[in-house]
Amino acid sequence: MRLILLGPPGGGKGTQAKRLQDRFGLVQLSTGDMLRAAIAAGSELGKKAKSVMDAGQLVSDDIIIGMIAERIEQPDCKGGFILDGFPRTIPQAEALDRLLADKGLNLDFAIEIRVPDERIVERITGRFTCAKCGAGYHDKFQRPKTDGVCDVCGGTEFSRRADDNAETVTARLNAYHAQTAPLLPYYEEKGKLRVVDGTLPIDEVTRKLEEILQTANVG
Ligand code: ADP
Ligand code: ADP
Ligand code: ZN
Repeated sequence: MRLILLGPPGGGKGTQAKRLQDRFGLVQLSTGDMLRAAIAAGSELGKKAKSVMDAGQLVSDDIIIGMIAERIEQPDCKGGFILDGFPRTIPQAEALDRLLADKGLNLDFAIEIRVPDERIVERITGRFTCAKCGAGYHDKFQRPKTDGVCDVCGGTEFSRRADDNAETVTARLNAYHAQTAPLLPYYEEKGKLRVVDGTLPIDEVTRKLEEILQTANVG
């Protein structure tokens, strides 16, 4: 199975992709995580991307498309994948169509996790992750069971993203509406679009997504 999770920054794509990855044996492909790894590694690509990301703008299509083209060639993608944060522009969506067509693969769904703008600031400013294993948390909506200790790995160090601040949120939402929202009619026309209410509690969003995934054609 191959699917795309669409939705605004902080909408819950990463949270849900991690859950579906475990339950359906798919790999999560997050272009945001790939870019942050490039920044951490100090690569040329990372240096180019950092200032763009900190400003809440989109990294250029050719960089992103190159990254994904290389990634989906890896053997772990054979069993299917969840695209989290890609595509984010029409040229990226068209490039993905070509990449899949070249391999004779199809896309099962593009699922929009719909969350209104006014909920996004609190989602993003409360977000943090375990520095050791990457598990995601929220100050209000998803606290670790024991304060300061990761539920998954017991780690005690956490990190917050440089771009997760109230100032950058507006720019990121603008980019979403101007550049990414046109993908909704794009996938609607192809009969691939499904919509889930992303304001529901995390477990309920997962349940809705599972219902959709269960309707996929097998094979
Ligand atoms: P995205 O990958 O779309 O940017 P995340 O999955 O990182 O979003 O979620 C953003 C923040 O909101 C995280 O701190 C996460 O714990 C929290 N979150 C995710 N889904 C929900 C939800 N349905 N209700 C409340 N908080 C949520
Ligand atoms: P969020 O879901 O919270 O917006 P991501 O981790 O998906 O966060 O993305 C963080 C930043 O990385 C984006 O604001 C953008 O600068 C860059 N980025 C990630 N994916 C893409 C993409 N597909 N196209 C362009 N830029 C991207
Ligand atoms: Zn952890």
